[in-house]
Amino acid sequence: MFDSLSDRLAGVFDKLRGRGALSEDDVRSAMREVRVALLEADVALPVARDFVDQVTERAVGAEVIRSVTPGQMVVKIVNDALVEMLGSDTAELHIDVNPPAVIMMVGLQGSGKTTTTAKLAKRLAERERKRVLMASLDVARPAAQEQLAVLGRQASVDTLPIVAGQTPVQIAQRALQSAKLQGYDVLLLDTAGRLHVDDTLMAEMKAVAAASNPVETLLVVDSLTGQDAVNVAKGFAGEVDLSGVILTRMDGDARGGAALSMRAVTGKPIKFAGVGEAIDALEAFHPSRVAGRILGMGDVVSLVERAAETVKIEDAEKLARKMEKGKFDLDDLRLQISQMQRMGGLGALANMLPGMKGLKGANVDDKALVRLEAMMSSMTAKERARPEIINAKRKIRVAKGSGTTVQEVNKLLKMHQEMSNAMKRLKKLGGFGKLASMFS
Ligand code: GDP
Repeated sequence: MFDSLSDRLAGVFDKLRGRGALSEDDVRSAMREVRVALLEADVALPVARDFVDQVTERAVGAEVIRSVTPGQMVVKIVNDALVEMLGSDTAELHIDVNPPAVIMMVGLQGSGKTTTTAKLAKRLAERERKRVLMASLDVARPAAQEQLAVLGRQASVDTLPIVAGQTPVQIAQRALQSAKLQGYDVLLLDTAGRLHVDDTLMAEMKAVAAASNPVETLLVVDSLTGQDAVNVAKGFAGEVDLSGVILTRMDGDARGGAALSMRAVTGKPIKFAGVGEAIDALEAFHPSRVAGRILGMGDVVSLVERAAETVKIEDAEKLARKMEKGKFDLDDLRLQISQMQRMGGLGALANMLPGMKGLKGANVDDKALVRLEAMMSSMTAKERARPEIINAKRKIRVAKGSGTTVQEVNKLLKMHQEMSNAMKRLKKLGGFGKLASMFS
């Protein structure tokens, strides 16, 4: 899967790889090629455009970490953007509720819904040791209920006995009753499919949902249908409260457009991927692993991650050495703040450093960090090294230059002063080793 996209991206990165330094033009022309590659992979146009804009912005503004090349940096940025596009975290099923947890499976005919219902049932039974019951609510297609029963036997999962003449809602109620009485943990309801999203189908789904109160409503769509799959998902999402998507036939999908656009277009996470006809060919959808498979550059990504770690440690050590000498200027504060941004914001700083208690609960958010950074950028190197020379006139200039106020500049200077004092106190206590270790 994703073969052609992988090849195209590899070609783009090959061109970047040889370069020692990257210009903005290099990045932009590489991103034009990435955009074409995404469109050829059948990614929705607005999604491809957003992706490229985001990567360009991050890549052009990025500080290249020492010991990696700009080309490697771009690979890492593209990787992270891909993971985000795919949905960041692996989406779990929320079935740890008062049993039975009802999972309603919905989708068009031929999407692979019945097969996927059985695959998921088997997975929950085997991997999560759940007691699972399946029921087919498809009364429109004569053989549908029997098909699920056959699959159930293959998967060693129980199916609700077939009673002729019942409506889907009646079957759902009977299934729920049986599941309760017989102590099943999970009940999977395989609803009827149709050829198109139509009113009758939607009405039936809503009635079944009202009767069974599902904790998960999973849409099964065929990844081979590309953007149609995404549009179908949009159609369903507008009618029922979908909790996630299962993409089938990923094994035959060389393009990957549905997988890549689904999250961004529908806002719904892909929870599983069908990767074959066999009853156990169902995988959890891990965005980071999928991105890794697309790029095929796991080595570069981890190299950049490791390099970033190293820089953090080196910076922390440098800072500790300066503090040991009793020096702590605004350049250090600046470095500190950029580190804190990486480590989880000012709250973390306040907890870690003495003398920062005043900031606790002061509602200092990331925007405040950006303002602090702006003020320090508006100072001269001399001012940062010797903050005591910042007189009233200089304060006005700094405030103007950074779009802040003199009060804010005063606050920053006071904060620096408090930190500097605290560090001197700490020095007397001989606690630097401990402090340095906190940053590494
Ligand atoms: P339904 O009409 O949506 O219930 O579709 P079915 O479950 O009957 O599946 C239709 C066909 O698709 C069957 O032949 C399945 O074996 C096949 N199928 C389902 N999921 C996958 C998958 O992930 N990969 C492949 N290769 N085939 C699949």
